[in-house]
Amino acid sequence: MDNLIGLVNRIQRACTALGDYGGEGAVQSLWESLPSVVVVGGQSSGKSSVLESIVGRDFLPRGSGIVTRRPLVLQLHKTDDRSEYAEFLHMPKKRFSDFAAVRKEISDETDRITGRTKQISNVPIHLSVYSPNVVNLTLIDLPGLTKIAVDGQSESIVGDIENMVRSYIEKPNSIILAVSPANQDIATSDAIKIAREVDPQGERTFGVLTKLDLMDKGTNALDVLEGRAYRLQHPWVGVVNRSQQDINKNVDMIAARRRERDYFQQSSDYGHLTSRMGSEYLGKVLSKHLEAFIKARIPSIQAMINKQIDELETELNQIGRPLANDAGAQLYTILELCRAFDHIFKDHLDGVRPGGEKIYSVFDNQLPAALKKLPFDKHLSAQNVRKIVSEADGYQPHLIAPEQGYRRLIESSLILFRGPAEAVVDATHFILRDLVRKSVGECTELKRFPTLQAELAQAAVEALERMRDESRKTSLRLVDMEASYLTVDFFRKLPQEVEKGGNPGASTMDRYTDGHLRRIGSNVSAYVNMVCDLLRNSLPKAVVHCQVREAKRSLLDHFYAQVGKREGKQLSQMLDEDPALMERRTQIAKRLELYRAARDEIDAVAWLK
Ligand code: GDP
Ligand code: MG
Repeated sequence: MDNLIGLVNRIQRACTALGDYGGEGAVQSLWESLPSVVVVGGQSSGKSSVLESIVGRDFLPRGSGIVTRRPLVLQLHKTDDRSEYAEFLHMPKKRFSDFAAVRKEISDETDRITGRTKQISNVPIHLSVYSPNVVNLTLIDLPGLTKIAVDGQSESIVGDIENMVRSYIEKPNSIILAVSPANQDIATSDAIKIAREVDPQGERTFGVLTKLDLMDKGTNALDVLEGRAYRLQHPWVGVVNRSQQDINKNVDMIAARRRERDYFQQSSDYGHLTSRMGSEYLGKVLSKHLEAFIKARIPSIQAMINKQIDELETELNQIGRPLANDAGAQLYTILELCRAFDHIFKDHLDGVRPGGEKIYSVFDNQLPAALKKLPFDKHLSAQNVRKIVSEADGYQPHLIAPEQGYRRLIESSLILFRGPAEAVVDATHFILRDLVRKSVGECTELKRFPTLQAELAQAAVEALERMRDESRKTSLRLVDMEASYLTVDFFRKLPQEVEKGGNPGASTMDRYTDGHLRRIGSNVSAYVNMVCDLLRNSLPKAVVHCQVREAKRSLLDHFYAQVGKREGKQLSQMLDEDPALMERRTQIAKRLELYRAARDEIDAVAWLK
């Protein structure tokens, strides 16, 4: 089971390394579901000393007064390796094998945040210790609870420390190591007081009694240690740490532990409790409790990790997977993205997505309305007909029918169709351009690559412009064709004026009577109407052929050809991503890696139990 605690330790360490432990976020919630041991107690009650003896190493600043002024998150990693070393999260590359240097770095790092004052800070220092002689544990050392602010401290310090301590121990995953000195009445213990507040049943509180050696001669702590003075669910553990004098004399840990053992063995008061006293025993008890604690929580930790993995994977899918960096893969990615866009664009035209119907509306409403508005009435008024016919006749009035006059009237009328023809082309172009814009916006895969997105949109619009030019030429040609050659049949079928009775002499004599001109006007108008009907049908065909169908068929052909010619470097420039997105992806990927590794390991350990 030790490997289970080791695993939890590793996950915790990974969480801290990811950096958002202490802030909000997924890693924080994982961190909070993992257990850690928090040491609380009054100032100078011996908290740091207890921690040190659990670790079996001297490395914490100790002494009288407020020495611990920032939380210290201490992770112990049991290794097979003989060497022992420590690492700080704030100096990831540096391995400390000299533990005196660790102590110095803790106090220097404390000062870096708080200055050399007696102020406190709740920014934790993270320290990992790797050693074959430790048990896997995460321990948190906190500033001691005090009763009054001393010189150089703000008035609020008493409350501030209490709040900081409470914030650590109120989390249900924290195991409280409540340290009280034996030479003070247990009824005055700050540690027990605050632990009871957050853990009234004492389910996760371990009582540690320090300074047994400093009790008045003739008194003992049996009432406390045997649970009569203050009952906790877990039995009390008494310890004897090094005195200040020992520290000053550099009594080492091994000697101190031996002395502690001797103390209990030789003590007339505690002899019968020897096997349940001392720092080594405390370390084992904690480790055992942690095992049970973690075991009970494996299912919920697994569920939490799985949930996080799901969430991260969903997010990663949304922002897209990381890109390969060889040219072939990049080209492939670009073409895939273009195809995704093209697909959406076609959907718009084919009615899978909205927008294509607007083109039909151009043919069905706009075009007929524009044709209707053409000023044929004015153009074919008796007055204008007279003007054009007589101009065409010149000095010689026409004899039977004004051939030239008809031609000029018809040609000048048909020219008017050019306007609506161009208007349909343009209206269709604007709709298509709008659909390109929409499709670019709807293509979520493209959002990730602003450069490609812009280039692709530009290329699509340019292609549409080329199609518009082609379409305009074709449509105008349709109009011009109508003007180039007139439908002979139409005129053959016209009733001959001479046969229409009346005075044939007069009709040849005066070609410009109102009735005659009106008839010419109405003949021309009938012809123009016939052509108008034709164009109403053929212009949409030209437009669909040149613009709509062509856009569906080959909108990005030109672009594909261009991209195909590009070199690797240009391709990767096209796939330039939004830097914020890239950063987010790296973060997610890192987290996913942590969670996946955690899941695999926990799964493996869960099977073993
Ligand atoms: P903290 O403020 O709670 O972290 O307490 P420290 O661990 O810094 O200890 C405060 C002082 O009490 C130091 O001088 C220690 O040497 C001394 N001390 C702690 N525990 C014991 C103990 O069990 N016996 C003796 N004699 N001194 C102790
Ligand atoms: Mg301390």
